[in-house]
Amino acid sequence: MKTIKKFTHIDARTVDEAASILRAGNARILAGGTDLLGTMRFEVLPDYPEVVVNLKSIPGLDSIKEEASMLRIGALAKLEDIAKSDLVKKSYAALAEAAHRTATPHIREMGTLAGNICQLTRCWYFRLPDNRFNCVRKGGRQCYAVRGDNRYHSIFGAVKSCFAVNPSDTAPALVALDARIKTNKRLIEAENFWDMAIPGSTVLDADEIVTEIQFPKPAPGSRSAYIKFAIRKSIDFPIVNCAASVLDGNARICLNAVYNKPYRAAAAEEFIKGKRITEESAEAAGEAAVEQARALPGDRNKWKIQIAKTMVKRALLACA
Ligand SMILES: Cc1cc2nc3c(=O)[nH]c(=O)nc-3n(C[C@H](O)[C@H](O)[C@H](O)COP(=O)(O)OP(=O)(O)OC[C@H]3O[C@@H](n4cnc5c(N)ncnc54)[C@H](O)[C@@H]3O)c2cc1C
Repeated sequence: MKTIKKFTHIDARTVDEAASILRAGNARILAGGTDLLGTMRFEVLPDYPEVVVNLKSIPGLDSIKEEASMLRIGALAKLEDIAKSDLVKKSYAALAEAAHRTATPHIREMGTLAGNICQLTRCWYFRLPDNRFNCVRKGGRQCYAVRGDNRYHSIFGAVKSCFAVNPSDTAPALVALDARIKTNKRLIEAENFWDMAIPGSTVLDADEIVTEIQFPKPAPGSRSAYIKFAIRKSIDFPIVNCAASVLDGNARICLNAVYNKPYRAAAAEEFIKGKRITEESAEAAGEAAVEQARALPGDRNKWKIQIAKTMVKRALLACA
């Protein structure tokens, strides 16, 4: 059985203190630890952190509160608290459902919202213990999924030839609800949070820490929904998931697990604009969403195109 290698664990007392530890180098942020500690134990990455900076020791980063114009969720708010919050369930249904559909109660009790949107891909070549595949995402030359087993990989092409997908359940809800991600340095639109220069990473600097996620208060009459398709019902990452929000004939629709980062279904949004959501129009919007989708050679991930189409249709119908 593999045991975790030694590292120094520091309880940060403030965000500034955590940032200065990160600036000193070779340190990683620890929130719930449900993703990070697995990657460390199995030595998934070529480098191993000397220091882990625990944010849970910083007071006040786990609140969920609504102000006049926005909902503010602290970076360390637990997924289970978000899923159970009456406030979130009432006005931000896509987020509550996305949090509820993540993993198991145990992981939701530990896992945080910031950790969920910063987690690494589940691509099995990337995740193989002891960094056995030095894939393009780790600085290597190739994406092993292209000629390997790619049944869960991207249907919207590669970023720097990496076909891995973003596995987060909550990320599409953030994009559909037009959230902003607050860090110790800036405010980032959710849609721009994931990096296109380094496949699968976020745009965060090495010493940047997510402190809060802000959701604009939905206008009266708007509705949102989240739909997930996974192989197992009890616990599983999404094969494809989709969040949508709709107001007065305008929709924001975001798919995930179909591309390196959450994928805004702009063609579907354009198609549904000004139309009443019906079985037929939602179906056609789903078709528009996957018009640009392409299976990888060998068609092993072709099935995901049909699922993505259906996810968009169901998410829209759930908002009708
Ligand atoms: C068995 C199992 C099943 C799972 N199923 C699902 C699933 O169905 N859906 C899903 O979406 N996820 C799933 N996960 C993945 C993950 O554990 C959860 O998404 C969880 O929300 C991660 O949050 P955390 O607080 O534990 O993150 P951590 O593990 O603490 O951190 C994850 C990453 O985020 C970084 N990070 C954390 N907080 C911050 C911050 N404030 N600022 C900047 N960077 C930060 C860390 O440095 C690390 O790189 C699963 C994990 C396991 C082990």
